[in-house]
Amino acid sequence: MTSLWLDGAPVTPRAPLDADLTVDAAIVGGGIAGIATAYALAREGASVAVLERGELAEGASGRNAGFVLGGVAENYVAACRALGADRATRVFRFTFANRVLFRSAIRMHKIDCDAAWNGSDQLAGDDAEWREIAESARQLAGHGVRVRLEAAERKAVYDEDGEIHPVHFVRGLADAAEALGVRIHTGTTVVSCGPAEALTPSATVRAGAVVLCTNAYTRHLAPTRVRPVRGQICATAPIARRVFARPTYAHRGLRYWRQLPAGNVLVGGWRDTAVDEEVGEGDGTSDRIQTQLDAWLAAQGVEAPVTHRWGGTMGFSHDGLPYIGKAADGIYRCGGFTGHGQGYAMAAGELVSALIRTGQHPDADLFDPDRA
Ligand SMILES: Cc1cc2nc3c(=O)[nH]c(=O)nc-3n(C[C@H](O)[C@H](O)[C@H](O)COP(=O)(O)OP(=O)(O)OC[C@H]3O[C@@H](n4cnc5c(N)ncnc54)[C@H](O)[C@@H]3O)c2cc1C
Repeated sequence: MTSLWLDGAPVTPRAPLDADLTVDAAIVGGGIAGIATAYALAREGASVAVLERGELAEGASGRNAGFVLGGVAENYVAACRALGADRATRVFRFTFANRVLFRSAIRMHKIDCDAAWNGSDQLAGDDAEWREIAESARQLAGHGVRVRLEAAERKAVYDEDGEIHPVHFVRGLADAAEALGVRIHTGTTVVSCGPAEALTPSATVRAGAVVLCTNAYTRHLAPTRVRPVRGQICATAPIARRVFARPTYAHRGLRYWRQLPAGNVLVGGWRDTAVDEEVGEGDGTSDRIQTQLDAWLAAQGVEAPVTHRWGGTMGFSHDGLPYIGKAADGIYRCGGFTGHGQGYAMAAGELVSALIRTGQHPDADLFDPDRA
């Protein structure tokens, strides 16, 4: 089944590429990462072509939950444990900058994507997680983050987070990029690429830089450490009662839900209960996960019928951080967001743009595609 977001979403018609082209940058993939990168480059005057095999935002970018969160999937204390405090803090700051870029692009280009910035809840699944959530909030507040604890519900409320309609956002940003001169070719599959060119079945694009924004599908074009992992969601018809004030991330980001402005309740996750099954490419659903989403809806007293059930393919990295930058093969990479791409994409686009234009960016080391 198609996602709630893709169902009936308007598409700006665009032609497949049918003639050779020379540009400063060729972007492969028209999800949020590809469009954000194209947008960032075009704002600095680069000539850019986006090559997308299907329609824009038909991959994970059109199948997610639409949360725009600061930080990574896990809480800050857990991130410090995994990455070291200095690196984790820099990653969190990068995602905070991403959120600012999101908001300013939406405002500047009047992107109609139901954006709401009412914050997000981070909800503990057990005692150990609650201790970490509370300590994370205390430490992040010391870094100036607007966060408060609601101990009775064992959650932290991060006031600056937001939620969007992800397909309207990507397609709206694409329109803005196009207005800046970006050429967007949908229905255009890249069959092979190297540092200075991308080949489609009918054309060659010569480019100063080729950027792979193909996330979970990268392995079909080039050797990669990005692994495809499936996530599933379901959404109900609208209900009048407000069940949730803001999007919620629970059980270390493995379970999540939100209620749309129109009243639909959306719930996803539970991948941890079927780790071996939720792998590979394939946007279908499974009874095993969907029955758990149904049970959760019933437990909240949400009786409206489920209108949409869908899956999406995420690209996981080896250490939970994305690969953003120039790789040893001479190709730029921007992917492996490990289920958190909206938390990074706008800032990731800026990073790739800076590297292509100037060869440097202060956070390039954090996301080096060839890191150990
Ligand atoms: C169920 C689910 C829930 C999620 N929830 C959230 C959330 O709430 N917040 C959040 O931040 N993240 C979330 N994510 C993750 C987020 O959706 C992804 O990290 C993000 O969309 C990745 O964007 P992308 O542009 O890198 O990849 P994609 O959106 O997958 O785009 C890659 C594009 O490349 C194209 N492509 C591939 N190969 C070729 C080729 N050879 N030639 C041309 N084009 C090609 C594909 O068609 C595709 O459009 C979720 C993901 C899923 C699946």
